[in-house]
Amino acid sequence: MLTDGFNRPHNYLRISLTDNCNFRCTYCMPHENMSFMPSAHLMQQDEIDHIAGIFVQLGVNKIRLTGGEPLVRKDAAAIMEKLAKYNTTLTLTTNGVRVHEFLEVFKKNGITSVNVSLDTLDTQKFARITRRNEFNRVWKNIELLLQNGFKVKVNMVVMKGVNEFEIPDFVALTRNLPLHVRFIEFMPFSGNKWNGQSVFTYAQMLELIAGHYHFTPLAGHPNDTAKKFKIPEHKGTFAVISTVTAPFCATCNRMRLTADGKMKNCLFSAGETDILGALRSGADIVPLIQTCLLHKEADRGGQFTDSFEDLNAATMKNRSMIAIGG
Ligand code: SAM
Ligand code: SF4
Repeated sequence: MLTDGFNRPHNYLRISLTDNCNFRCTYCMPHENMSFMPSAHLMQQDEIDHIAGIFVQLGVNKIRLTGGEPLVRKDAAAIMEKLAKYNTTLTLTTNGVRVHEFLEVFKKNGITSVNVSLDTLDTQKFARITRRNEFNRVWKNIELLLQNGFKVKVNMVVMKGVNEFEIPDFVALTRNLPLHVRFIEFMPFSGNKWNGQSVFTYAQMLELIAGHYHFTPLAGHPNDTAKKFKIPEHKGTFAVISTVTAPFCATCNRMRLTADGKMKNCLFSAGETDILGALRSGADIVPLIQTCLLHKEADRGGQFTDSFEDLNAATMKNRSMIAIGG
């Protein structure tokens, strides 16, 4: 089992398939100068397979495909097929717009749970946030996943002044639909114009929901990033991912591979380890993976301040979210 310097076991790998995307979400992409990686710089199918296989030998038992948008990659289906042979839970995070084209691929490759991002239920606001007019397609695809028996988690990034008023509407969805809605605190990344004022906090979310519903906490798994809640008569649940105000680093079990094959031991790590370069040069990547993990900081890449309001996103050393793989 892979363990970091704080004795935290790591068994969960998130692999970004591409930094490209068919959406242009304002909170995820740099507002200026976004250029996508040339495909020769990306991990190729066999390289993803090879690297994932090594992580599995080292104890990884859960793999999430992400991006950018994982389903825009032309060989996404072939990659899923290759990874399906490992004895892991295989899953993905998607903006949902191409899900209908992949339903059978998911089923064939043992994917039973899909995270879909949706930040608003308002068609026009959706177009403003994502800069694409695709609300109806995404919503239909969420319904399609549910009709086909998938577990569906809906990720909503909550931004103050943009969509926090819709939180109760998202909770209302869980009344008749077995959806698991996750409210994510807005996080700072390179170029996304984050500031402390734009964070609608975990505490504020619970206070807002408490004004509409009576809810109870659900027992979670020790490695959960989300604090989960249930309204007794509702089919679904809701949760909060409170990375900014109440981080869950003490039980973190996650590692990341960017689409160009760099390992990040934390979403906010300043450093990266070039796994793909080493693989291409014929080096043994196992010690690189182990060393990268040993250098993991205790908390959020060591880049956060005690008070999030004092954080200066511009001086944090990181990539944009789209180039990390969320
Ligand atoms: N394209 C896919 C999608 O949108 O689900 C996968 C990649 S996306 C980077 C992964 C997740 O990161 C999404 O749920 C997205 O909403 C979230 N995300 C992106 N930027 C974020 C930010 N600044 N703060 C919090 N979550 C963010
Ligand atoms: Fe694309 Fe997902 Fe980022 Fe939106 S959140 S720009 S869909 S990668």
